Order: sequence, then structure tokens, then C-alpha cells
Amino acid sequence: MKYYLTTPIYYVNAAPHLGTAYCTFAADLIKKFRLMQGFDPVVLTTGSDEHGQNVERAAKAIGITPEAYATSVAEEFVSQWKKLGIDVDRFIRTSDPSHYETVRDLFERCQRNGYIYKGSYTGQYCFHDELYVTEAKPGDPCPDCGRPTETVTEENYFFRLSAFQDKLLELYDKNPDFIRPDYRRNELISFVRGGLKDLSITRTSIQWGIPAPVEGHHVFYVWFDALTAYISAVKGQDLWPADLHLIGKDILRFHAIYWPAFLMAAELPLPKAVFAHGWLLFQENKMSKSRGNVVRPAPIADVMGADGLRYFLMREITFGQDGNFSYDALIERYNADLANGLGNLASRTLTMIKQYRGGVIPESDGAQDVAITARATVQQTIDLFDRFEFSRGLEIVWSFISVLDKFIVERAPWKLAKDAEPFSQKLLDETLYTAAESLRIICGLLWPVMPQATAKIRAQLGISTAAADLRLADLHWGKLQAGAAIGEIAGVFPRLEMKPTIQKIQELEIAEKARQDAILGKKPAVEPDRISIDDFAKVDLRVGQVLSAEPVKGADKLLHLKVDIGEPQPRTIVAGIAEAYQPDQLVGRRVVIVANLQPRKLRGLESNGMIVAASLEGGKPVLAGFHEEIPVGARLK
Ligand SMILES: [Zn+2]
Repeated sequence: MKYYLTTPIYYVNAAPHLGTAYCTFAADLIKKFRLMQGFDPVVLTTGSDEHGQNVERAAKAIGITPEAYATSVAEEFVSQWKKLGIDVDRFIRTSDPSHYETVRDLFERCQRNGYIYKGSYTGQYCFHDELYVTEAKPGDPCPDCGRPTETVTEENYFFRLSAFQDKLLELYDKNPDFIRPDYRRNELISFVRGGLKDLSITRTSIQWGIPAPVEGHHVFYVWFDALTAYISAVKGQDLWPADLHLIGKDILRFHAIYWPAFLMAAELPLPKAVFAHGWLLFQENKMSKSRGNVVRPAPIADVMGADGLRYFLMREITFGQDGNFSYDALIERYNADLANGLGNLASRTLTMIKQYRGGVIPESDGAQDVAITARATVQQTIDLFDRFEFSRGLEIVWSFISVLDKFIVERAPWKLAKDAEPFSQKLLDETLYTAAESLRIICGLLWPVMPQATAKIRAQLGISTAAADLRLADLHWGKLQAGAAIGEIAGVFPRLEMKPTIQKIQELEIAEKARQDAILGKKPAVEPDRISIDDFAKVDLRVGQVLSAEPVKGADKLLHLKVDIGEPQPRTIVAGIAEAYQPDQLVGRRVVIVANLQPRKLRGLESNGMIVAASLEGGKPVLAGFHEEIPVGARLK
């Protein structure tokens, strides 16, 4: 039986980060677990959502085509997933011509069935950024530039979403597993019960998109285009419908309302399930590009291996709920569970087999009490993984690791090894076989979670079969071959020192950010130069009073001022304020003067200081002044 699963088709306005890696890691875990369960083929799709105004603008800003821009970001996604050891089967780009066909086909099917109509869309538009601000009310500012948005109406095509309220509720009712977890399902049902509005699915204001098969210039808008990629990725391969769409909770409505409605309208099969995971929080906030609190996965993978990161995310966070990410917690858990836990069990087991049995797995059935615990561990973990309760499943595996640690200490093989009695030697065989066989089973169970690290340990145990061929039946007790030689022993999870490790990751993070920013065409953020209080104190700002003001011959913008700043002689100052102030407006007025500026000559007149005025770029200058009485010569500080 086939199993087809997807991650979201990630939007190319941001480079891959820990949030997108989290979802894609989980998808790879589920893929591997379904393979172990015997599904065949198991196909994982991810991809890049490339159209729309944001991409158009980002490309324009760096002077390249939207195609070229989207290509470089899509390539970054592909190479990141590879680097992180994620085994993707299909990478669909929404700019792929075969995807254009799928989207048009979906539209025409919906149209034939009477679910498309032409209407007018009214929204709040920012003319500066050339985009609609969704969910804004008239007069609301644009979130990008802060300018007020304007109400704009354009003609476009609508999808009759309102016709699907009852059909969707029936779908959720008949298929309780369609939306998971349960708490999100309940939220969504009450949202749909509140009524659904028809959906505008084309735009005339966008260039970079899939042209709709209609008269005039209309391109498909966001979801009608992006969601359909799940079908395009496996067209003609007997894999649709998807068995699982794995997504973040912020896009649940689109996947659980729009998407099944589009498919019902087109009379196409619906996906079996949508699972919405929570957000990764960093410093208490959702990790996002706009907050600037993004953590990138590659620097962590460089320092502890991608599997260490992957294990942490799956163990630390209850899949489905929000969870906190912190470097401290990452390294603490790595050291406790991987370096000291699994890594230590592997190295002591293998070292003892090498020392006491010449590197050959001894003959034994193993200790029966441990075999029973192993069977229970396998069963419970499989059940939990099957329900996507990865954290609890891993907890069960680690309690088995503690059982083994205790077992080894109690058996004290280092004492048995010194005793030549046949009974002791038999007990030593049993102890070593039990530890090795448990380790083999643990590595099998953990393969979907840590594919690279478990493959290394399996090789050290002398197992030559490929991990991809692992099936649940391989987790039965007693499959470890006695008489087989173990491989070369090497530590898989070296212990990490907290401070230097975090420092190293953060250094790599800076370089990684710069590398990704270059792909996105962003200029490196320049830290604004801060000045110290001493720097500020160097500027001698004084209250002055204008005694006289005259135009400067041949210079429209300049005024020639005499200003009393409490010194024996008034200052001569030439100021570029003639377009904003008449000379007689200024006489007697209190102003602010930079008193210690080096003298300079303007139009043959010496200027001894500068008058302080404020203006926006290109705007008219407004002189600084005071609301209360202030004596001439007072210093500003
Ligand atoms: Zn704007």
C-alpha cells in the first residue's frame, strides 16, 4: 500500500530556517516510520511556492527576474534538506510548467461545475509597496511601510467557498482523523460553523503568477496556486490523494477548508489527513523573519550533527503543540540523552565485546527479563510513533536505555570476565548478547528519528543490511547473529562543552545569515553607529536670539543672520532657510545654534556656527525652538 505525504510548499520570500526544518524533519521521520511499517512506496513531497508580489518585488530590488530569484532560493531549500540528511522524493516548484497545467485544470473543473464566478474584489491596497494588505480596514496603515492603505476595487474571479460549509462539516464529522490534533479540529469546526465567505482567487495587479485561462490578464492568487502543487508533484503516478499533509498551525485553515473545498468542487479525491504542528518559539516568540529571531539549522548541524538537532526537536517538543527552542536546552539534552545515554551504552557494549570476546557477538538467547522489556518498549514506541506522539515514544526508548545501564552495572561483566568458571563465562555471554541485541533494537526503533547516527552504530555492531530495508519485524528479539564480528568502534555523540559550543554555533550563525541574505538579495544589516555621552558633549548647542536677518545676493536659499548667543559679539551665521522663512519673521526669535562648528565661507560670507532645523528628506526646514522662556546663551544638554 502506498503512502504519500507532504510538507508545506515553502514560500521563497525566506530562506530555510529552524521552523521549516522542524516540519521537514518530522515529515522525514514519518516517511521512514511508514517504510518500516511496510508501506510501499512511501513518497515525500516538499517544494517551493514561487509566485506573487513579494517575489516580484524582491527580484526587482536586486535587478533580476522573478524566475532567477525563485530559482536561487529553491536551490537553497534543496541543498539545505540534503545537508540535514532529509530524504525528499519530490521537490515541486510552483514555477514548473507542469504545475501550471494542474492549476488551470483544477480551475476549469471548478468552473464547469459552477463554482467560479467573476466579481469585484475590494481590499486595502498600499500603492507604495504595490500590494493588498489582507485583513486591513479602510485607513489602516501598511504593515511594511506604515503609509495609510487605500481602498481599491478590482475585477477578478471568485471561488464559491460559501457553498461548501455543510459539505466540509460533514467531511470533518465522517472523518474524525481528517484534522489533527483534536484541539485544532474543534477550533476549525467552530470557525466553519461561523460561515464561509467566497474567495477571490485571481488578481490583475500581479504579473508573476500563473495566468488563468480566461480573457484579460488574471493570475492565480496564492492558495489556488500553492496548494495544487501537492497534486502536480505526483501527477500521473497513482499517488494522489495524499495520505498526510503535514503543516504548521498557521496555515491550517487553508489546508482544511480551502483545499478540500477546491477538490470537492473539482470532483477530485480529498487528502486523508492534515496534521498541524505548533510553532517553535525562540526567546518566547514565534520564530519569524519579520521578528528577526530566526535560528538556522545548518550551524547546529555542523557542530553536533543534524541528528542531534533532530532528536532534540522531536524529544523536547510535544508534536502538535508550541515548544521552546534554546541553545542551552539543546546542548543539555544532547549531553544527557545522546552523549551519556545512547552514546555511552553503545561504546561500553561494543568495547566489552571487543575486550572480552575478541570483537565477536557471543552465542546466547539473552536475559529473558530484558527481552520482555524490549518487546514492550518496541510495541509502545510503535504505537506512539503511529499516533505522531514522538516525544513520548522517545521517552519510552530512553527508559529502556536506563534499564540496560542498570542491568550492565548489576551483572558487572568486568568481574565475570575475571572468573574462568563456565557458569560465569556463560553469564558474561548472556550479558554481552543482551546489551548488543538491545542496542540493535534501539537503533532500529530510532532510525526514523536519527538516520545517520543509528546507521553508524549499526555498522559498529557489524550489521551490514541497509537501514532503508528495516521493517518492524526486524525489531523482534533474537535477530542479532551470534558469531558475527563487530566493526570498528568510534564515538557517535562526543560530549559538548556548553559555553564554547554555543559560541561556536553563534559564530557560524552569523556567517550563515550573511550567506542566506546574499541569496535573498538583502544587504547586510549595518548596525547604526552609537555615540557615547562624551561624543554628544562635544557638540556645543546654545540658545541664541536672532538680531538681524538679510537675504544673500545670488543665493535663493540662504539668509545672513546675526545671532546673540550670550557672547560679547553676536555670531554671523549663513543658513539655508530662505525658502522657509522670511527675514523679518526671524528677528527676535529664539533659536538653537551649534556654537563650536568650524567657521566656513558661504558666498563670500563667513559663517560662525549653524542654526538647528528639522526636515524630512526634501522637505522644508523647521527651526528648533522652545515653548518656555529660556535665556540667551543657555546650553542644551
Ligand atoms: Zn506599504
